[in-house]
Amino acid sequence: MKISVLKTAGVLLFSAVIGFCHPSSAQENKVLAPEFRIYRETPEKINDLVHTKLDVRFDYGKKYLYGKAWITLKPHFYPADSLRLDAKGMDVKKVSLIEGTKLLPLKYTYDGKYILVRLNRTYSRNEKYTVFVDYVSKPDELKATGSAAISDAKGLYFINPDGKDPDKPVQIWTQGETEASSVWFPTIDKPNQKTTSEISMTVPGKYVTLSNGKLVSQKSNTDDTRTDTWKMDLPHSPYLFMMAVGDFRIYKDKWKDKEINYYLEPAYAPYAKEIFGNTPEMIDFFSKKLGVDFPWNKYSQVVVRDYVSGAMENTTATLHGEFVQATSRELLDEHKGEDVIAHELFHQWFGDYVTAESWSNLPVNESFADFSELLWNEYKYGKDAGDAHGYKAMESYLNSKPDSAKQLIRFHYRDKEDMFDLVSYQKGGRILNMLRNYIGEDAFFKGLNLYLKQNAFKNGEAHQLRLALEEVSGKDLNWFFNQWFFRSGHPVLKIDYAWDEVSKTQKVILQQTQQGDVFILPFAVDIYAGGKKIRHNVWMREKTDTLDFAVPSKPDLVNVDAEKILLSKKEDNKPLEQFIYQYFNAPLYLDRLEAIEACSEKQLQNAEARNVMIAALKDKSQDLRIRVINALELGNNQVKDAALPVLKDLAAHDPKTLVQAAALGALASFRDPANQVLFETGMKSRSYAVQGASLLGMALITPAEAYPLAKSLEADSRGELAKAIVTVYALKGSTVDLPFVEKAYNNAELQSKVEMAPAYINLLSRVNNTALVKERVSGFKDLGIKYKQYGIDKFILSLFERLKQEKEAQLSSASPEVKEQLNQQIAAIVSSIRELQKSTEG
Ligand SMILES: [Zn+2]
Repeated sequence: MKISVLKTAGVLLFSAVIGFCHPSSAQENKVLAPEFRIYRETPEKINDLVHTKLDVRFDYGKKYLYGKAWITLKPHFYPADSLRLDAKGMDVKKVSLIEGTKLLPLKYTYDGKYILVRLNRTYSRNEKYTVFVDYVSKPDELKATGSAAISDAKGLYFINPDGKDPDKPVQIWTQGETEASSVWFPTIDKPNQKTTSEISMTVPGKYVTLSNGKLVSQKSNTDDTRTDTWKMDLPHSPYLFMMAVGDFRIYKDKWKDKEINYYLEPAYAPYAKEIFGNTPEMIDFFSKKLGVDFPWNKYSQVVVRDYVSGAMENTTATLHGEFVQATSRELLDEHKGEDVIAHELFHQWFGDYVTAESWSNLPVNESFADFSELLWNEYKYGKDAGDAHGYKAMESYLNSKPDSAKQLIRFHYRDKEDMFDLVSYQKGGRILNMLRNYIGEDAFFKGLNLYLKQNAFKNGEAHQLRLALEEVSGKDLNWFFNQWFFRSGHPVLKIDYAWDEVSKTQKVILQQTQQGDVFILPFAVDIYAGGKKIRHNVWMREKTDTLDFAVPSKPDLVNVDAEKILLSKKEDNKPLEQFIYQYFNAPLYLDRLEAIEACSEKQLQNAEARNVMIAALKDKSQDLRIRVINALELGNNQVKDAALPVLKDLAAHDPKTLVQAAALGALASFRDPANQVLFETGMKSRSYAVQGASLLGMALITPAEAYPLAKSLEADSRGELAKAIVTVYALKGSTVDLPFVEKAYNNAELQSKVEMAPAYINLLSRVNNTALVKERVSGFKDLGIKYKQYGIDKFILSLFERLKQEKEAQLSSASPEVKEQLNQQIAAIVSSIRELQKSTEG
């Protein structure tokens, strides 16, 4: 599964335009609950699933599924005379044993969670038996709790089932992970179960269906319905079962002789190839890299509405949230879905082919899927792109305090859903990349190949991974796994230097300043001196270590962690001149980024540091170009004078539209009418990001002209442009602009919603409709509470404080009636502020 991680930095430009404060990214510290003391064992296997055959129909009115299940099982090892099936919130009408063509009724009890079945006799481990269950699934009557990763756990979702919402298609889809498949069919809903499957779905004839495996038959019925049967002849876990029903257009692609399909809403069908078209190349790349060809008989991807997470790797049938949908114009700026497409695809090996044996071992699914995003970026777009991706992931992990206390493999957690976090994903992905670096590319992938082959169609845990990598590399990896997989935290590394001219010795003083034990760290140190680079491979084994290098002349650069591989927080106290040398001479993305960060701090005082910043505006990595643009202190005239010509050039000519947009954003901050022509040119761009930044630039120079311009752009506005229009309305708009703002906000994904919040709330300060103000304030309050783990609660709180002040300031000049209205609005804002504060403290 792919979870969404919010960045709150994106709001900066928009906030700057309307003068709102920056979001807080503070994270709350959770007190350990008693549940953490429970050891989360791997579920015992008493009976094993063998085959699951389902026959289902849907009641769109009641939001029910009418199901029949034929479940074939056998005792795992010990003889068994009973069976426990997970079945959440169902009506169970009949439980029988299949005997030839007859049904033999079985005794059972059902408590809303489990069906406990008394079998007709004791079965041995070589005896299969088939149980038939007639049931009704009622997902919307179920009380389920989700998590940050999955905001719900209903298993089966009816979207706009009565068709009353004109802006939404009618759809049905499922989400199994973690244990919600048992809402829509009785099963043993554990990841260490595997079963072949056959699912027959009877649906209105106008819809298409998608499920696991091959579509083996389609039968039209007399009542305008059709029955589609999907067959999966290789075993997979119940949480990977899926169904989707709706008005989708299918784009047919191919990898070798296998069907690759993309299911999209009709409006996005023309962009199917642009959105998903890299899939065959990804399959090819991953197949070769792993030495295991894509193991399933087809691969489909479907995009659905109102999905509860990012995306889900159902076997052969990945389901994506609607954020992956994009038009050509949107894709010109950024393919937001591509990493997710790689992530879910890699799960078809790590997750579906070999499955984590328990949620405690989830990283053998998720860390790999996260790592695959780096692999794909590196392969497709070059090492810089892979490194940039990995570094961003490490930053999100390092910036989340509570996560540093969690082990990668965790046998104690409050809820299984809590395993889907920055540790299982981002931290785990970096750990795998370190492991790859430590044992080497060939040994690492040969080891993964062995792990996949040894555990194919079965389950895996961290130890099996270690044993496979040890077998191939011949190296002991216990220390590595104990340190990174079973222990929490990360090193905090302080690096100091001393050159002794007399003895020609370069000292590197290393300290790990984190609390607790030392981390054993192998890494490279590159010494650049006399025009040569010499690499030293070293180990840090003590909390304080001093390395001595004999060097003929004073080095130009000592580059510790020269492969930029360590998962650590680093304080590198090397002299500025070495960072400057590093920018121009060390090859990696992170070499340059470290240098840029050091130079950024000195850009006001030091001309050479400033030169690095200016040179880096033309760095070959678009990510670094954007980072440098955003780090320039343009309030300073020296920086401004040096940067201005390059920024203008980037705004007009950079090959990447996001760099153009960032440069236009920086130029906007000057509020200089001389730049108007650049913004006017930008307004004609096909890129929404460039148009959006240009519109904001215009708004800062001539707000009166920006407003009608925004109006004229409304019709075809998405992404950054929609946000920019909302911002212009926040400056100059009134109640008449609310419908656009409301629609842009409702259509936006969570990240963009957060980014639009300052403008939207600012606009509310000029709206006098009390009912409307109350409703929107309440909506933002709910958003803050729902996503408080990202600090959105504090962010909204600060916006509300400002809104309250604005409304209070209007009181003095208001007529008695308006005063009454304002007081009601202020009371509503104050009450929401209190609720947010309570939630933040709670
Ligand atoms: Zn995943």
